[in-house]
Order: sequence, then structure tokens, then C-alpha cells
Amino acid sequence: MSTILSSRLLLTATILALALPRAGLSAAPAAASVQAETAPSGPVQPGELPLVAAADRLKARLSWDPLTGSGSLDRAGLHVGLGLDLPWVLLDYSRLVAVDAPRLGDRGPSLPASTLAILERRFAEADAAVKAHFSVAAILIDPGHGGKDPGAIGEHTLDGKKLRVVEKDVALEIGLMLYKSLKARYPERRILISREGDSYPSLEERVAMANAVPLGENEAIIYVSVHMNASFNKNAKGFEVWYLNPEYRRTLVDSTKPGGPRSDIAPILNAMLEEEFTTESIMLAKNITEGLQSRIGTESQSRGIRAEEWFVVRNARMPSVLVEAGFVTNPEEARLLSREDYLRRASDGIYNGITDFVAYFESMKGASSQ
Ligand SMILES: [Zn+2]
Repeated sequence: MSTILSSRLLLTATILALALPRAGLSAAPAAASVQAETAPSGPVQPGELPLVAAADRLKARLSWDPLTGSGSLDRAGLHVGLGLDLPWVLLDYSRLVAVDAPRLGDRGPSLPASTLAILERRFAEADAAVKAHFSVAAILIDPGHGGKDPGAIGEHTLDGKKLRVVEKDVALEIGLMLYKSLKARYPERRILISREGDSYPSLEERVAMANAVPLGENEAIIYVSVHMNASFNKNAKGFEVWYLNPEYRRTLVDSTKPGGPRSDIAPILNAMLEEEFTTESIMLAKNITEGLQSRIGTESQSRGIRAEEWFVVRNARMPSVLVEAGFVTNPEEARLLSREDYLRRASDGIYNGITDFVAYFESMKGASSQ
């Protein structure tokens, strides 16, 4: 109740502020200096719809103040401010869109058909944005390499003893710990792992596994691949998290598919999803880096987050990251990576990053979908 009231007051204040230039009371902001002709009131124009009926058609919540002749329409998190004889509407208190002015007709405040059409499109876009906003329904943990593919190998002699650390084994150990912790934390979600033993799913199979998970309209899957690093420089050490290079362009929304979006809004949806996956992948990468920093940051060190067009990440249609948990080629780090308690802490760090990410995005979803 209080939010409706306060947003209405805010709208009224905003509308008035924007309307002031028409009365010559203050300098006109550039965007608001659109010429406002007073529409004649009188008989219904063709296609004109009373505001109440228009709100009904738009499935939007209408607030209207007869005193100021201004109000708002709300749906799917989109707030549209409008006023009588104002040849624009104000979206989310910030964007002006030119329209044919609402006017006072025989049946009260009314919207011209052209304005109604514009609002229909804007609300459809807002719906699409809400749908694109996800809850995390599934998490796929992908321990890198396996079977015939050992990944990087570190061989060291420490204190007279030989130490051999193999990437596929360490990745599997961390992956399994992570998988079990996530399953315990989220019994209602689908927690998956690409391999539970020393097998070798191909890269295509790993991505296909993730893409094949059935998801509801507002659901998404996140993809976390676990690897170890290697370098010719034995001093190189630390952990890093990769996400998809934002320069890389994908076609996520296919308007040619039956049931796909109309061809005119597909590019918009595509841009939104692309932007969203990149933003979310960066956020996930940051959260995991912070998680690792708090658990193994004193023994190891953060090398930051990085953008790359990894195959695994590139073909995954979801927020996805690749974690390099440490260098098997660094003698000190190899020793750490051979200790179960250290792998447990590394796993906990990644786990904390993932759960922080899930909590953050689901709170965002709650806020935007009302
Ligand atoms: Zn690897």
C-alpha cells in the first residue's frame, strides 16, 4: 500500500516537474521540450479507449489522480507515467517516449489507439525481461578432463619424496566435494556432475549435458567447470576464474523455431539474454573468486577473473565459468593440491561463491517480478 502511494506521489511529482516547462516556470529539459498540443476534448476518436478499459486490455494496474490529470500504469516491473495532453509517457521515471497525448474524452481520460499500441509493445518487452530473469533450478559441476585425458601433470621432488599431481584427479576430487555439498544444500534443485569417476566425456558431451537439462520458463542452469592450471614457469601460482568473453556473439533466441518469439522482438530478447548471461557469468566468477580468496587466499593467491572463449563455456547457453583452482606445476601449490583438507577448503570456497550468486540473483528476481 505504502509503495503504491509513494510511487504515485513520486510519479505525480515527476510528471509535474516535467510538465512545468510547458507553463514556462523553469528551464525545459531537452527531452521534455517536446511540443505539447492540447488535444480537443469531445466525442470519442476512432480506436480511442477509456483509460480504465485500456488498463484492462494492458493487464496493468492503473493509478489515476483526477486532480492533476496524471497517473500511471504498472505491469511486470515496468512503470509508465502519463498525463492528460502530455505527448509523451515516462518509463520507470527515467525514459521519455513520444506518444499521441491522452485526452479527456466523453468517457473520461482516454488513450489514442496509437498510444495503446506503443504501451502494449513496451509491456510485452517487460514481460519478456521478467521471463528472462531466472531462478537457478539446476547446477552442473564439470570436473575437467578424465579417463584418457589427464590434463596437466605436475611432478616434483619435495623433501626427498616424489610428488605427482594430476589435474583430472584433483578436479574430480574438488568436483565431487562440491557436488555433494550443493546436493545437501539444495535438495529441491537438480545438481548434476559431468563425471563421477575416471571417465572422459568429450567437451561436446559436457555442454550437451548442460543444454539438455529441461527447464521451466523462469528457470536456468549454471555451469561450473573445475580445472587446474599449468605453466612452464614453476613460480606461477594462484587461482583464477574465467568467464565468457563479452565480445563473443551468440544466437540464443531463435525466432524461426515454432513457438519462438516474433521476429520483430527476437533481436531485442537476444540482446537482453546475451547481456544477462555475460553479466551473470561475471558475477558468478567474482563470487567464486571471493569464495576461494576467503578459504585458500592465504596459502594461494587470486589471479583475478578473466574473459576467454573457452569451448566448454562458449557453447553453454547459460551463465558459465571455468575455475582454475591452482597450478600443479608449482611445487608448493602441488603439495597443497595433494592434501584433502586443502581441496575441501577449495571446494568450500567455490561452493560459497555459487550459493552467494544464487541468493543474489533470486533476490533480484523477487524484486523485479513484484
Ligand atoms: Zn584443464
